[in-house]
Amino acid sequence: SRSFSQPLMQAANIVNMIQSGVASAERIFEILDEAEEIPESSKPSRIPSPRGEVRFERIDFSYKEETRLIESLNLHVDQGAKVAIVGPTGAGKSTMVNLLMRFYEVDAGRITVDGFDIAMLTREDLRSLFGMVLQDTWLFTGTIRDNIAFGKPGAKEVEIQEAAVLAHADVFIRQLPDGYDTVINEEGGSLSQGQKQLLTIARAILADPVILLLDEATSNVDTRTEAYIQQAMKSLMQDRTTFIIAHRLSTVRDADLILVMDQGSIIEQGTHEELLKLQGFYSELYNSQFESAETA
Ligand code: ADP
Repeated sequence: SRSFSQPLMQAANIVNMIQSGVASAERIFEILDEAEEIPESSKPSRIPSPRGEVRFERIDFSYKEETRLIESLNLHVDQGAKVAIVGPTGAGKSTMVNLLMRFYEVDAGRITVDGFDIAMLTREDLRSLFGMVLQDTWLFTGTIRDNIAFGKPGAKEVEIQEAAVLAHADVFIRQLPDGYDTVINEEGGSLSQGQKQLLTIARAILADPVILLLDEATSNVDTRTEAYIQQAMKSLMQDRTTFIIAHRLSTVRDADLILVMDQGSIIEQGTHEELLKLQGFYSELYNSQFESAETA
């Protein structure tokens, strides 16, 4: 195990800050700049044209010196695959995502994207590989335009609007008196939860990353907005490698690969049908958690 620099910890906390809406755009950029102090290779690699194939090779990882959470973990994810991560709280689902984004460094082994060790990429190149749509919203104080454009600094107006159209956000944005110039305050202003989610999806579509990290919301939105969100997510996931911390039965069932995690290990992996046949942890989880959720 090793100790981490303050900036590295801050990077991991950005997500929380943005989610709770306390961060202004300037503050986020400040922290991201500080995070540049994370040790970088003196001869960084560049992935010529990223595709999004991911490997974890014999990964060991501990948050704390004395307790090893992940030991000798291997994983191979094909370019474009949809991967659902399931398992009880504390199983290590978020940790997998944290390691992939290099918010924390592994103790042993390596994580590769398209065969390149992520530790050999610059922070900037690494960050540009990923798009995130997390459980809560990721908005900062600024206009709707700025909030979407955060996905691609310097984006043209037409690109911003195209992303909003694909995300089913353009219609509601245009109905606002100030349209794309509407200033969102720290709570997201008068936008509904579902509208805020559509904005974060628009941002991710604009950023056009090869890998998506999704924490599936089990949110309280009306059925129609929910249908829009599902459609928008579908556009977003198209042709991208996607890791989903999954809560929905339909997501899990449709995944190309389900990772069942417990206590830092992938204890089962495969498709829904393959895992049901095992009659193991997944089939138990499915029967207890998902089936009851479905009927509820
Ligand atoms: P999940 O996402 O499946 O709920 P996590 O990956 O968040 O699980 O957590 C896995 C384990 O690591 C848990 O025991 C959790 O308490 C611990 N853990 C998570 N984050 C940290 C951290 N920043 N520092 C120390 N321990 C952590």
